[in-house]
Amino acid sequence: MHQMTLAEIARGLADKKFSSEELTKVLLARITQLDPQLNSFISLTEELALEQAKAADARRANGESGALLGAPIAHKDLFCTQGIRTSCGSKMLDNFKAPYDATVVAKLAAAGAVTLGKTNMDEFAMGSANESSWYGAVKNPWNLEHVPGGSSGGSAAAVAARLLPAATATDTGGSIRQPAAFTNLTGLKPTYGRVSRWGMIAYASSLDQGGPLARTAEDCAILLQGMAGFDQNDSTSIDEPVPDYSASLGDSLQGLRIGVPKEYFSAGLDPRIAELIQNSIKELQKLGAVIKEISLPNMQHAIPAYYVIAPAEASSNLSRFDGVRFGHRCEQPKDLIDLYKRSRGEGFGPEVQRRIMVGAYALSAGYYDAYYLKAQKIRRLVKNDFMAAFNEVDIILGPTTPNPAWKLGAKNSDPVAAYLEDVYTITANLAGLPGLSMPAGFVDGLPVGVQLLAPYFQEGRLLNVAHQYQLNTDWHTRPPTGF
Ligand code: GLN
Repeated sequence: MHQMTLAEIARGLADKKFSSEELTKVLLARITQLDPQLNSFISLTEELALEQAKAADARRANGESGALLGAPIAHKDLFCTQGIRTSCGSKMLDNFKAPYDATVVAKLAAAGAVTLGKTNMDEFAMGSANESSWYGAVKNPWNLEHVPGGSSGGSAAAVAARLLPAATATDTGGSIRQPAAFTNLTGLKPTYGRVSRWGMIAYASSLDQGGPLARTAEDCAILLQGMAGFDQNDSTSIDEPVPDYSASLGDSLQGLRIGVPKEYFSAGLDPRIAELIQNSIKELQKLGAVIKEISLPNMQHAIPAYYVIAPAEASSNLSRFDGVRFGHRCEQPKDLIDLYKRSRGEGFGPEVQRRIMVGAYALSAGYYDAYYLKAQKIRRLVKNDFMAAFNEVDIILGPTTPNPAWKLGAKNSDPVAAYLEDVYTITANLAGLPGLSMPAGFVDGLPVGVQLLAPYFQEGRLLNVAHQYQLNTDWHTRPPTGF
């Protein structure tokens, strides 16, 4: 039962082969049995899950239908869940029970999805390895000595290990696509503004975007359908109609123009990954796509710009965690300043503290123009490169990451080494574009992802290309040994 995709579950529930309650019990037992190896969950919500599953079964019995009605999912632990701990992977929020549901959580619950729990993540979504969580590192089910990617590593490891079919995640600089690549999943970061950020604990507000992680493009379409849409509670949410993402999955790729940026194949890319990407290009050519070499000349400046902008926004966003209103409070403060200092010093881990300091520095008088303003100018250049490219091509294709998942601890002493691994993913966030990663093969037994980028609001095109690719390849169907 645990091998089923969301689409298969939807068919099984519709055909009354099993109930949502039965399926939920099987998956909860599987999580209890196997998750100690992975550490992919921070909280299990068994009671809520069984209640939601029974309610979904009752709705079906009353004639309701829907692909998410009774479908088991989990939420990355930065989506606020009413009355349930929402920790953001931090000691700061270990005791925080959200007073309301995030829009994404409420929308999925209304569609009948069943929440099995809250998944582990890098602290405040800062990281590419899921090692900065206060609740401990998450292990990659493909090799328990390797990282699953981050920051949505818990959602990725859980779905890859078949603990559940799909989960929500967020992507500020790659945190949906990179863990998808590292664990053999399909993950989609939507256009900025497509999915509401209301109730999603902020890291870098101008970059953050929620999206689905699942095993197939077909399942990403189902989950995204439940997440996307205008929300008046989020001032950056965009009031555009949500298309039927499943309806365009079957479209032909005949004549599709795929741009391959020459900058993507530079020295930093593992040659074995480069070869797998070339294979995926050939596969898409067989389906009728036309390949064109393009250039994204400002890509080389994207990492330094991102690692100024994201920490700057984080330093501002995280100032609300002061030990007064919510979250961790130190014991017996001497005075107000001592309360702030010790609450924040004790509540935040080292990576979060590092970024708050970098961000506060970049925003300070005298340095603002030199760092923050410069970074914003680069951001515009990165966007302009994409706009020029999309005049010539329909999608852009390349690797999701330069290397496969590294060993746990391998980059702990050198944060910049980890930042460099984000080279292919962060540009989409800087430009606000949608991006998808899908399985493209293996290197040393570890999964490799191919990334597709599309113009604004073309999530349907990404899902269509990925689905057609997945109808003709079987990488995405392979499970990790032992799961
Ligand atoms: N690795 C990037 C960072 O640490 C991206 C994280 C994310 O997308 N949340 O900022």
